[in-house]
Amino acid sequence: MSAARYDVAVIGSGAGGAVQAYALARRGLSVVVIERGKREDPTTFAHDEAVQFPRLYKHGGLQTTVDRNLVIAQGATVGGSTVINNAIWLRADLDYVLPRWEQAGARVERSDLETAYATLEKWLHVEPLPPRRANHGTDPFINGARALGLEAGLLDHNRNTCIACGWCNYGCKYNRKTSALVTFIPWAEQRGARILDRCLEARILTRGDRATGVRFVREGRVEEVEAERVVVAAGAIGSSAVLLQSGIALDGRVGEGFHAFAGVHVTAEFADPLDSFDGIGLCAYVKPGLSEEYVLENYFSPPGVFSLVVGGWFTDHFERMLRYRYFAQAGVQVPTVPSGRIRLGRKGDVQIRFSLSAHELEVIRQGIKALGEIFFAGGAIRVLPATYGRIEFARREELDLLGKLCPGPDDLSLGSAHPQGGNLMHADPRRGVVGLDHKVKGFQNLFVSDSSVFPVNIRANCQATVMAMSLRASEYVAR
Ligand SMILES: Cc1cc2nc3c(=O)[nH]c(=O)nc-3n(C[C@H](O)[C@H](O)[C@H](O)COP(=O)(O)OP(=O)(O)OC[C@H]3O[C@@H](n4cnc5c(N)ncnc54)[C@H](O)[C@@H]3O)c2cc1C
Ligand code: SF4
Repeated sequence: MSAARYDVAVIGSGAGGAVQAYALARRGLSVVVIERGKREDPTTFAHDEAVQFPRLYKHGGLQTTVDRNLVIAQGATVGGSTVINNAIWLRADLDYVLPRWEQAGARVERSDLETAYATLEKWLHVEPLPPRRANHGTDPFINGARALGLEAGLLDHNRNTCIACGWCNYGCKYNRKTSALVTFIPWAEQRGARILDRCLEARILTRGDRATGVRFVREGRVEEVEAERVVVAAGAIGSSAVLLQSGIALDGRVGEGFHAFAGVHVTAEFADPLDSFDGIGLCAYVKPGLSEEYVLENYFSPPGVFSLVVGGWFTDHFERMLRYRYFAQAGVQVPTVPSGRIRLGRKGDVQIRFSLSAHELEVIRQGIKALGEIFFAGGAIRVLPATYGRIEFARREELDLLGKLCPGPDDLSLGSAHPQGGNLMHADPRRGVVGLDHKVKGFQNLFVSDSSVFPVNIRANCQATVMAMSLRASEYVAR
């Protein structure tokens, strides 16, 4: 078998991998991208959750931690999670993040990130989200927060001439979201990059301290590419798994320090119909203070996901669903500490060993309470946190009962779309998995470039910072 030869092989085509492919191809390097998911034609995307979940989400959207308490959503398609994300562009608060990263052994220059954010914002048409495109639950959220003296407002987004259909989490069939599938991937191809989709069982090939290529199974056949440099960008969880499956464990450090920006939905009912499904799902946030431990963002979900987070059982659930037009929604998310680990089970299955701490759960409960207060101040008549038991609050004072009503993690319907860590960045050659140059310890030409390198949680939606770090990393890979 003669293998094709490239300057760079990139494993994974999401926010990290697609930026890497484009940035390297535009420098004139030959690039191949090896992606496990399928390449989709956006014009065929359906406005139907039952069709799109298995088509675009890893494990059909059912990926969970080993204890089953946290659902972790990730994309599994060319373009990765950018295809299913909400296109919210939120620069991390660098006053919050950079000192924490430095304390954890990873000093990253502010100017590097700021330059990268600015470049990406031009490329991806980032602009303030127009108020007329926001979902109709946004006004009560912002007004309620402001009535309580909180700083709230619309977020920035990466869309162009969006028609606000509200189906971003299932792929944009109108190509209005500037996801990697319609930006970096075709831009890289225009510069000669090759994108190989449906590549299973990717393994990094190594000789001594060098990666020599990637082996994978495509359409039932074992294939190989040779590469001068290999970049792993299979996302948090995925990248640790690829390294471990390739026999690269670095004395147990690969997979250590997994963390998530995780939380719970809160649904609020209003006396008159809002029709929050009409408009962009995620639009606004309450700006957190520097030391604050949670972030509040409004959101509205299509009926399938809504039915999972509105709570209630049988007739009660049915009656809530009948009032779909009357609700607004928001979420509280906390940045967890890097206490988790990604491991391979005895049968080679990928395990996410991670649980939220008692403190993190308490912060989530405080956030639920804060959202309840915001919605009541915005005119809500009922507040329904995403719990498994039947819990609803009709008055602000009742929110104090939350701790008693849901004491444990299995009382709350916890989720995250922002997994991070597992291949932590650390300047010390004996600690972490990658150095400040994204190079895997002990290797000359193997890199990781995605959310798995974040040493400490960035307390924000991740795509902007994953892309910015990836653009920064491309400088080192190109060298
Ligand atoms: C539903 C949802 C909504 C979100 N909304 C927002 C938002 O509005 N704003 C925001 O900032 N962030 C959002 N995010 C998060 C953001 O999209 C991610 O943080 C970001 O895409 C992560 O980039 P990544 O490169 O680390 O991983 P991903 O983008 O997930 O890419 C990883 C890629 O690697 C592939 N892969 C995995 N394993 C292998 C393997 N073994 N071999 C080959 N390929 C592999 C995957 O299929 C995938 O394509 C959202 C995420 C989700 C799931
Ligand atoms: S809301 Fe806008 S970006 Fe999202 S799927 Fe609809 S048209 Fe596309």
